[in-house]
Amino acid sequence: MPIIPLRPNDRIQLKKPHPCGNHVFLVLRIGSDVRIVCEGCKRDMTVDRVKLEKSIKKVLPLDEQG
Ligand SMILES: [Zn+2]
Repeated sequence: MPIIPLRPNDRIQLKKPHPCGNHVFLVLRIGSDVRIVCEGCKRDMTVDRVKLEKSIKKVLPLDEQG
């Protein structure tokens, strides 16, 4: 599986929704862990990068942002 290039401010759709029902998360910070914030309830969390990459369904294109 190719490495997904993530950058801060990318919006990602995860396979598993957040408990609030939302699927889309905003990337805040990238490192060995990635900090993301749920767009539904605005809660942020820190996820292991490898685990996060496995749970990404897709990275939303820039023209879907805004
Ligand atoms: Zn949420």
